[in-house]
Amino acid sequence: MELFHGNIVFSRSRDEIVQYKDSYIAVENGVVEGIYPRLPEKFAGAAVTDHGDDVIIPAFSDLHVHAPQYPQRGTAMDVLLYDWLNNYTFPLEARYAEPEFARAVYDAFVDDLILHGTMHAAVFGTIHARATGYLLERMEEKGMHALVGKVNMDMASPEYLCENVKSSLRETESFLEKYMDNRTAKPILTPRFAPTCSRDLLAGLGKIGRKYQVGVQTHLVESLWEAQEAVRLYPDCGSDTGIYEKAGLLGNGPVIGAHFIFPQEDDIRILKKYNGYAVQCPDATVNVIAGIMRTGALSDDGVKIGLGSDIAGGANLGIYSQISRSVQLSKLKKFYEPEENRSISFEQAFWMGTKQGGELFGKVGSLEPGYAFDALVIGGIADPFHVLTPVQITERFCYLGETGHIKARYLSGKRI
Ligand SMILES: [Zn+2]
Repeated sequence: MELFHGNIVFSRSRDEIVQYKDSYIAVENGVVEGIYPRLPEKFAGAAVTDHGDDVIIPAFSDLHVHAPQYPQRGTAMDVLLYDWLNNYTFPLEARYAEPEFARAVYDAFVDDLILHGTMHAAVFGTIHARATGYLLERMEEKGMHALVGKVNMDMASPEYLCENVKSSLRETESFLEKYMDNRTAKPILTPRFAPTCSRDLLAGLGKIGRKYQVGVQTHLVESLWEAQEAVRLYPDCGSDTGIYEKAGLLGNGPVIGAHFIFPQEDDIRILKKYNGYAVQCPDATVNVIAGIMRTGALSDDGVKIGLGSDIAGGANLGIYSQISRSVQLSKLKKFYEPEENRSISFEQAFWMGTKQGGELFGKVGSLEPGYAFDALVIGGIADPFHVLTPVQITERFCYLGETGHIKARYLSGKRI
């Protein structure tokens, strides 16, 4: 048994964030056993790691991030999606055919995720199975909970990134076979988005998904262009989300739809039917998409919502900053379209970035008993002249925080 002392903050439910001041958290085999306001007798003699006045919070979950775009973050932020992909992102993604380049980037990416307090992530690779496998292996080695996908795309993309259906499916299947039995970092099917995937490719992926019972991540109704183009190409499917349902890709495991900004009724109905996640990526949507998710209304409607950094549409790897921006964007959305929207609270946004998002990976994202002790210690952000509660310090960290305010990081109870 190990004990950690400090102020403890986590989400219990969508609307309830709880704080335990000056308390002890007991951890056994990397899992939270309980929280105690005073050191119980039964733990007399156990080692205590004292974090003083600092705040212990759950580590973050990033539900949408493109590892290969890591070198591109914070550049070409003044264009919109179509030009951004074709002029910058696609040429960069082509470079992951070079193993050395891939290794250098992915080593840095994984370290930087941890530096920013993200211990769980749903990650896009590129079409290159070998490079994407390296990324997955790094995350498994660190013990991070991850879903990592080799991307599939076979049309409407530059020739150098267009796959042939047969080899795309073959490589995807061997990628799954190789990593399915991993402990924490697992493979997931990753068709880029409907306009870049042929019917044959999606149907083949659907078969693989059913055979291996593995989930899917993609971009859903991301931009007006993407939403309209998807339905134009697949008129019989009725909606962007319907394309994946018809291909048999839903219902085999986790379903993750990034952005979900322009959903029709059908998109919402289908996503809910399969217990899927819509991922809000606040920075990316203002940088390259120019649309805002109806976060409050969708959440009220029962849609599961997680947060994503969407590197490199987003420039910032910290999910804590996406928590504050999702509050900001929901207020703008409400201001411009007051009838259909409501703004979300800090409690709700924090829950999306921790417990709700973490649920995708298992018992992570909270500090309740039974959850993995994947935690961050936040300090150096309070004022000496004005007392803040631990929840207020957590909120301030989400608005002003930098990696230097994360004083310690724990993954399954181990300090890293
Ligand atoms: Zn994306």
